[in-house]
Amino acid sequence: MSIETLTSAVRNIPDFPIPGIQFKDITTLFQSPTHLKELTDLLYEQYKDRGITKVVGIESRGFFLGPALAVRLGAGFVPIRKPGKLPYKVIEETYTKEYGNGAIQIHEDALTKNDVVLLHDDLLATGGTMAAAYNLVKKLGVKKIFINFLIELVELKGRKHFPEEVEVSSLLKFNE
Ligand code: AMP
Repeated sequence: MSIETLTSAVRNIPDFPIPGIQFKDITTLFQSPTHLKELTDLLYEQYKDRGITKVVGIESRGFFLGPALAVRLGAGFVPIRKPGKLPYKVIEETYTKEYGNGAIQIHEDALTKNDVVLLHDDLLATGGTMAAAYNLVKKLGVKKIFINFLIELVELKGRKHFPEEVEVSSLLKFNE
């Protein structure tokens, strides 16, 4: 299956959740068994030899594929969640995103210095969410961090948030 076929299965919803946003609806991509398998196969092939020990997914759409990918890679799964959801001791980062502000948290004992982390979310817009997640994971002192998105809104230049030595990858690219 081609990248074009996967890309065309993403449904664009204009002006959601607020006017001016072109919302990328991935439910249409995920509901197809063949598309879903292709997505996980492509990500598995990309990361299988990187020594990933933990996939870290960002609430909530990073939870769709994150655990499936972790199973394929033989890695654990760690959630980054919105405040008030994680029950144990947490560390927190605040951020701004394409629409609105937010804060995210991770359990303070979720990762160790030996972990090689694949940070995953559905979409890169301004990059505020992933930059906060990257800072959280860095604070826990892991060995290496890879960053992955299903979708990148290229013109918003969210990549600029991340240091050059960090490999940032996205499967499907949109111009708006
Ligand atoms: P940002 O922090 O601006 O990179 O925003 C990324 C987060 O907001 C991701 O977790 C996305 O789920 C969500 N998001 C931002 N913009 C969009 C969009 N145009 N379509 C779908 N989700 C979006």
